[in-house]
Amino acid sequence: MQVAIIGAGMAGLTCASRLADAGHVVSVFDKGRGPGGRMATRRVEHESETYAFDHGAQYFTARELAFQAQVRAWEGDGIVARWPAAKEDAWVGTPGMNAPIRAMSEALDVRFGTRITGLLAERGGWLLEGEGVPENRFDTVVVAVPAEQVAPLLGTHAPDFAEDARDVTSEPCWTAMVAFEGRVDAPDTLTDEGAIGWAARNSAKPGRDADQECWVIQASPRWSRAQLEREAENVGEELLAHFARAVGDLPPVLFSTAHRWRYAMCEKNDAGARWDGSQRIGVCGDWLSGPRVENAFLSGLELARLIEG
Ligand SMILES: Cc1cc2nc3c(=O)[nH]c(=O)nc-3n(C[C@H](O)[C@H](O)[C@H](O)COP(=O)(O)OP(=O)(O)OC[C@H]3O[C@@H](n4cnc5c(N)ncnc54)[C@H](O)[C@@H]3O)c2cc1C
Repeated sequence: MQVAIIGAGMAGLTCASRLADAGHVVSVFDKGRGPGGRMATRRVEHESETYAFDHGAQYFTARELAFQAQVRAWEGDGIVARWPAAKEDAWVGTPGMNAPIRAMSEALDVRFGTRITGLLAERGGWLLEGEGVPENRFDTVVVAVPAEQVAPLLGTHAPDFAEDARDVTSEPCWTAMVAFEGRVDAPDTLTDEGAIGWAARNSAKPGRDADQECWVIQASPRWSRAQLEREAENVGEELLAHFARAVGDLPPVLFSTAHRWRYAMCEKNDAGARWDGSQRIGVCGDWLSGPRVENAFLSGLELARLIEG
């Protein structure tokens, strides 16, 4: 079976890995420049230094047996480690949050920088539309993108899946990434300090450059919503001011930038994944399971199980 998977986040790659293991020919397409999705790690060259920031998911937990087994395998490969500063049972990717995504991508045929703009049903199979997309026909298509990006791909072919996705709302998250010249006098993580929902000393996570002082500062959903359409530069400065209010005087800033996640955390859902066996089209992603890395994994796993029947 020739399978096309749109979206190389945790859900899409989990589904892709299981189908490839079962002997199918799997091609994955992602519009992003590199591996990560919402488990992204941004690396920045600035004045001959390289700074790294996990600016999406901060850590993850593993509560279900299937995900625990996967996390143990990643731990054995040295690509995840515990990070008790966040939570007793917290894990992070090493050396960056995107490490598990990178590892899964490297074992598969993944084409980054390839945005799929539509699907065409042809002779019992599917053609993909988009710049640089191969012209071959796929037997099966999996759509593993955030809820808000599902409808343009599936609106005409699987209107009920598109409708489900339209019903989901996600909270935005403005995120500042800041490298300081010296140590900030604060614990490694802060939560719920006014406008700030979460802040973490990224450089204190395992496998990072501990000589640097890199922080990720995430605004609360409420504050992010209120500032949604503002310029990144102004938002970054304002978040830094809120951070100073929470922790006191800050050392000089060496580098800072801000990123807007328009759709960061979705609401909880319990569909798991959806599969239409007559058209051979399926959807997976955190929006079908819950707003966490583990939910995305479980959704991808569930869709692979449904496809395999
Ligand atoms: C700021 C932030 C903080 C978070 N904090 C945590 C946390 O602390 N703990 C936790 O467990 N979870 C956290 N999450 C949630 C977690 O990151 C997500 O639940 C999980 O990564 C979602 O995985 P996914 O595969 O469903 O989607 P994604 O990771 O979003 O993957 C979807 C992929 O689809 C691609 N794509 C979209 N449209 C197209 C298209 N048309 N063509 C090609 N490719 C396309 C995208 O580029 C993306 O790579 C956080 C998320 C954010 C943004």
